[in-house]
Amino acid sequence: MSQHHTETIPCPECGEKTEFTVWDSVNTALDPEMKARVRTGELFLWTCPACGAKRWIEYATLYHQMEDHVMIWYTPNDPSEAIRHFETVKRGGDTALTTDADYRFRVVTSRFQLREKLMALDEGLDDRVLELMKPFELLALQMENVRIDEIFFDKAPDGERVFALRLADGRWARAPFEQGLYDHVAESWADELAKDDSVRIDFSWAWTLMDENRDGDESDG
Ligand SMILES: [Zn+2]
Repeated sequence: MSQHHTETIPCPECGEKTEFTVWDSVNTALDPEMKARVRTGELFLWTCPACGAKRWIEYATLYHQMEDHVMIWYTPNDPSEAIRHFETVKRGGDTALTTDADYRFRVVTSRFQLREKLMALDEGLDDRVLELMKPFELLALQMENVRIDEIFFDKAPDGERVFALRLADGRWARAPFEQGLYDHVAESWADELAKDDSVRIDFSWAWTLMDENRDGDESDG
């Protein structure tokens, strides 16, 4: 089942102390209503009942979509412990968590990354292919002289697949998602992806994988 505890949060605006539910773990098979609450971000949004002030509360939670064999560990701080833990599980060292090898384990360190992983999952996309697309996307945008801090797979309000861009000045923008590029990347990286069992799939994971394979190409030629 999902596990939670309560913490008292003093309002930074009016000082009113209120209780906030912190979800240490979420299991969507047992608590289906939690699925939407994680996706909207509601789980991490605190609202002062006295003055209406809102604040994002960042806390670690283990998201388990048991019915689809997906576990995502969101940890806003150092992810190394979560990564180690999942790697132990994958080697079969923690049978209390799961014994099924056919699981998608992921560790994320921001609410945006969590949202992105869930979005990819809901769309039936491979998040690793999305990460491998990002350097291409950035390269194309760089040529247009846009400074970008972060890039996430996202869906526009009309349901269209896009890349959301967090610009250096804090604003957000959008770039088109090209299905053709996704298919091409998925196909050309299929062998490497089949061998890779990383749980931390992010931008630097994609760079490292590309770097390793660039070296391989050079030594072959
Ligand atoms: Zn308040």
